[in-house]
Parts: sequence; structure tokens; C-alpha cells
Amino acid sequence: MGELPHKYEVTIITATKPHKLPDNIKDELKSSGLMDEKGKLKLKGVSPKMLKRMKEEAVECPVLKSEVGFVQCFVCPNFQSRITGKVLCKGEPL
Ligand code: SF4
Repeated sequence: MGELPHKYEVTIITATKPHKLPDNIKDELKSSGLMDEKGKLKLKGVSPKMLKRMKEEAVECPVLKSEVGFVQCFVCPNFQSRITGKVLCKGEPL
């Protein structure tokens, strides 16, 4: 299967600090049903164990130019897929 066009391959790192989801992203997730009212994430195909690991990971986001928690990256409109420790990122302005 061919890869989708993407602009960046962003290496996934261990987060250097805890990352919280920004409020505007939480609101978006709630309105799209990916988060319940209590703030619990409900990501399809992501087990609680995977989610725990995702929370310890981050990327140096080339668009936002800062370290972003992997959960935020995973739900980002630019996120395409994760392969072998890298995120394929569309790189559109956010
Ligand atoms: S998918 Fe979004 S958060 Fe992740 S690296 Fe790309 S722009 Fe940054």
C-alpha cells in the first residue's frame, strides 16, 4: 500500500514534561464524541494501556514549533499515521 502524501516525518520522543490537552482541543474532541464530559478520552482502537503510553510520548511539532504531547498530535487534523516511531504529518498551518 502506498503512503499518503505528507510533508513531515516527525520522530516520536519520550515527553520531557507532562502534556495536557489545550482547552480548545478538548472542546473539539467533546463535540466530535472523542471525549466524554468528564474529560475521558474515547479514541477508537486505542486501549487504556496504549493511551497510557501515548501520554508519555511527544513530538517536536514542526507546525506549532514546540513539543506537543502525542495524544494531541494523534487527534490533530494533520495527523496521518504512525509508523515505526514516526508520525506522518500533513504539515498544514494550524
Ligand atoms: S500532526 Fe499536528 S501535532 Fe503532530 S506534528 Fe503534525 S502538526 Fe504537529
